[in-house]
Amino acid sequence: MTTIPFNLQQVRDRIRAACEAAGRAPAEVQLLAVSKTFGPQAVQAAWAAGQFAFGENYIQEAVLKISAFSALTNANPSAVQWHCIGPIQSNKTRLVAEHFDWVHSVDRLKTAQRLSEQRPAGLAPLQVCIQLNVDGGANKSGVLAPEAAALAQQVAALPGLCLRGLMSIPEPAPDFASAVAVFARVRAVFDALRADGLKLDTLSMGMSADLEAAIHAGSTQVRVGSAIFGAR
Ligand SMILES: *Cc1c(COP(=O)(O)O)cnc(C)c1O
Repeated sequence: MTTIPFNLQQVRDRIRAACEAAGRAPAEVQLLAVSKTFGPQAVQAAWAAGQFAFGENYIQEAVLKISAFSALTNANPSAVQWHCIGPIQSNKTRLVAEHFDWVHSVDRLKTAQRLSEQRPAGLAPLQVCIQLNVDGGANKSGVLAPEAAALAQQVAALPGLCLRGLMSIPEPAPDFASAVAVFARVRAVFDALRADGLKLDTLSMGMSADLEAAIHAGSTQVRVGSAIFGAR
């Protein structure tokens, strides 16, 4: 457990170095700590070390963890952000709408409509990224690039949601240059949506193994799990 603050600092250093190498300000890139499969104590350790945004893949696991974390820390709920980054089945949309601040994995209008309808009125709109399947990987979630613009316009119109940008999980690339090239394709779709008039500010891309390449290509949120919490 004492290694979590150390790992977190290492990751922050990597982000800062990658920003410097890319001529970007470190404040442009937010770190999302992906705590899936780790318990509330691990989240608490990262939180005590100054981390406030957490990513979770498995909805039911996350909902239990969110309440356990709250009981453990008494943290002001508005001081902690929970991001859903995993696939969302229709029967889980209500849990997501009620318990999360952000969702990165919207890739169908039906899911977005349910999240919008089920978002409790007392909460801020759910912050949303559309997941882009940038390399056509067969087992992949995400909308294909040619369909992204239509989905983005529809999602942007839903009252319970606030569309913030795109998320992508490209297949691992053999080297830095090819990783940058794939992330740059996500960036190009993002730029095209902005040119269409959508007010987007979030490019969620980069994980433990490839955050440097993602930052080079313009990432504004890196989602890092194993480099912080250890192997799963
Ligand atoms: C697990 C996961 C991550 C974190 O991956 P690491 O390689 O452990 O950093 C990031 N994004 C998504 C969508 C994930 O499922």
